[in-house]
Amino acid sequence: MQPIATIKKTKEIQEKYNVFTKKTYGQNFIIEPKVVEKIAQAAIKDPNELVFEIGPGIGALTQFLCQRSNQVIAFEIDDRLPVVLENEIGSDHLQIVLQDFLKVDVDSIIQKYRKENQKVVFASNLPYYITTPILFKLFETKEEIERITVMMQKEVGDRFLAKENDKDYNALSVITKYRCDVKKVMDVSRHVFWPKPNVDSMVIQFTFHQKYHLENEDVFFKMVKACFTQRRKTIYNNFSAFVQNKEIALSILEKAGIEASTRGQQCTLDDFIRLYECGKEYYDC
Ligand code: SAM
Repeated sequence: MQPIATIKKTKEIQEKYNVFTKKTYGQNFIIEPKVVEKIAQAAIKDPNELVFEIGPGIGALTQFLCQRSNQVIAFEIDDRLPVVLENEIGSDHLQIVLQDFLKVDVDSIIQKYRKENQKVVFASNLPYYITTPILFKLFETKEEIERITVMMQKEVGDRFLAKENDKDYNALSVITKYRCDVKKVMDVSRHVFWPKPNVDSMVIQFTFHQKYHLENEDVFFKMVKACFTQRRKTIYNNFSAFVQNKEIALSILEKAGIEASTRGQQCTLDDFIRLYECGKEYYDC
């Protein structure tokens, strides 16, 4: 197999199909085969896993995903690219869907493609302009996902890896820990992309666990987001706005054993879980 992820092949494909990169779609293609190979290895543990790729581009990563899995469904927004993928990869393991992934109902597509007992994984070199909304969409999915392995801007990756009291710790860090174990697969230099972006990248893997089962997770997520609304304010300030009653907010915080003067970024996932449990009858969402 001749890798697509080289500068020579990428330029050749771009000229052949007249598919020059579109900035608006966050198109920075990988031009180092070792990088895509490592992402595919981390993403797929078994050839029977159902793989969803977001943004295949001209196929740099897709090619390696199709080598490791028998079923890859790739969602691409750019209508110039399906023909490139079909011609250049030509694998019967691959199905291309021309669609904006932000408009996809993730539960429905999993139900549509998953065979009985099949594990579901996501892999992507994400378009950076929509990294967070895509990941939130996946974390809020009800259908079971095994793992997500994605490339993102280094600074965003740092937020996922952040622990309480770190400057990058926020609602996303907490919600992610509620759903998954998070680990860094590798750092990736800006020099292995074409065109070269202004930032370095990181590949992060999220492995879903079933450690927590709160009664109403949507409310829990809203409560966590509310506690970080204004970072400089105390948890008491942010949380009372969420509860819409200062006295009740204070009594819930006391019951949960959280000082009113604490800030959201000092609280652990366990603190937020206690806060939810101690006041759940008051949250009107
Ligand atoms: N996977 C390729 C690679 O690694 O070389 C391309 C990655 S490039 C950073 C991001 C890809 O996502 C582009 O092909 C872009 O067209 C596609 N894309 C951007 N927004 C999208 C969306 N909303 N839904 C699906 N694909 C999208």
